Amino acid sequence: MIPDFKEENAGYSLPEAIREAKRCLHCKVPGCKKGCPISNDIPDWIAQLAKGNFGNAMSIINRRSNLPAICGRVCGHERQCEGHCVLARKGEAIHIGMLERFVADFDSEAQWCHEDIPEKSRGRVAVIGSGPAGLTIAGDLSRQGFAVEIFEMEAEPGGMLKFGIPEYRLPKHVVTREITKIENLGVSIHLNTTIGQDYTIDDLFAAGFDAIFMGTGTGVPKRLDIPGIDHPGVRQAIRFLRRVGLYESGYIRREEVVIGPGDKVAVIGCGNTAMDAARTALRMGAAEVTVIYHRGPERMSALKAEYDDAVKEGVRFLWNTSVTDIRGGEGTRLQQVTIQNDEVTTIMPLDRLVLAVGSVPAARIVSTTEGIDVDERGYVLTRDNPYGMTTRRGVFAGGDVTNRPATVVHAMQDAKNVAEGIARYIDAVKLMEAIR
Ligand SMILES: Cc1cc2nc3c(=O)[nH]c(=O)nc-3n(C[C@H](O)[C@H](O)[C@H](O)COP(=O)(O)OP(=O)(O)OC[C@H]3O[C@@H](n4cnc5c(N)ncnc54)[C@H](O)[C@@H]3O)c2cc1C
Repeated sequence: MIPDFKEENAGYSLPEAIREAKRCLHCKVPGCKKGCPISNDIPDWIAQLAKGNFGNAMSIINRRSNLPAICGRVCGHERQCEGHCVLARKGEAIHIGMLERFVADFDSEAQWCHEDIPEKSRGRVAVIGSGPAGLTIAGDLSRQGFAVEIFEMEAEPGGMLKFGIPEYRLPKHVVTREITKIENLGVSIHLNTTIGQDYTIDDLFAAGFDAIFMGTGTGVPKRLDIPGIDHPGVRQAIRFLRRVGLYESGYIRREEVVIGPGDKVAVIGCGNTAMDAARTALRMGAAEVTVIYHRGPERMSALKAEYDDAVKEGVRFLWNTSVTDIRGGEGTRLQQVTIQNDEVTTIMPLDRLVLAVGSVPAARIVSTTEGIDVDERGYVLTRDNPYGMTTRRGVFAGGDVTNRPATVVHAMQDAKNVAEGIARYIDAVKLMEAIR
């Protein structure tokens, strides 16, 4: 049976969530909180959930996270909170991700948690990019009394949450709901606005912003140097996934996704993006999908659960194998690739090849702005004091654009620290102005 795009995991019912929450031992030194990159107060909200105090549980989560319905679905819980749960040693870790998702989803419907929003009197912040880093900055600073405006080049906010992670793992309506909550804190979002093209950083300062945050991610996919790589039958995974996202949101037609029914598809790479591309190709009707990786399974960076799901759905894996030549056919269709495993060379008939070998930041902003230094691969350089400030005064950066492609919660963790850096910077500048 062809898998579809419906969310694959149904989530807990109310009685299931309470039963699971009651298993929590409320450890004095909670490993789960230590294992969470944003130090979510996990045992505290689980205790409220166990008593049926859903609004209180949500309020506690809100102290540390702006995106719980998303983290509850896509964080690597087995390596983080759940992996550090004392019950994990017996293989019985509390399903913290599922509980977090339950609280966030329940609150979105019931809306029992109401926040007091402070007056926006501490300063104005422009946030470039509306991925998890930008949304976290916006949520945190807005709660602290800053007026925040987000500038996003896409027609919808969310970054990789909307146009990278596929619908069956993270439904778009869930992302939209979380973003609406952030907008309700008083954050405004300007869509279809590319900084470095429509406006520069200097334009934003001239418009009166006190600080600017770059949370622009790593939107430029890396390529490989293989003969035939420029054939239109070779696609970049993040562009393929983006197209599927645009198709699902009704922006483009089915044919524009390119990979379609009956195609033989191979994906080069073995991270989570490769797993998503492989599983999405199956959902678009591909007849067979093979992941080709130049190392062994012990070196893959994909989460074990993602790999297991790909295997379950019929994705084939070729380990210690490289593609050495690509032969094109008519139009966007390939004919074959040559693959090499040890000394053995094989010809593999193929219609489409997808590259999932990483991505780097675009240079749009740094090439149109004086004074923002980057490293040799284009990652923005920042300092620790005030945390996250670039080499240009008042311009901050965080998330994947500084740290290399990582995870949602690591982008959030970094952004939380940068939010503190921005708040300190603006307060200090305003204080100096007042005493001058
Ligand atoms: C296919 C895929 C699957 C993934 N799966 C997972 C997962 O399961 N779990 C997990 O934790 N992580 C996952 N990740 C990683 C995670 O999505 C990223 O680490 C995270 O989104 C990085 O957040 P960010 O805010 O730094 O950047 P992004 O999410 O990339 O957001 C950057 C935003 O900036 C905008 N932008 C860029 N330049 C400009 C400009 N000049 N002007 C205006 N806007 C601009 C972009 O349009 C985008 O909206 C996955 C990534 C991919 C690609």
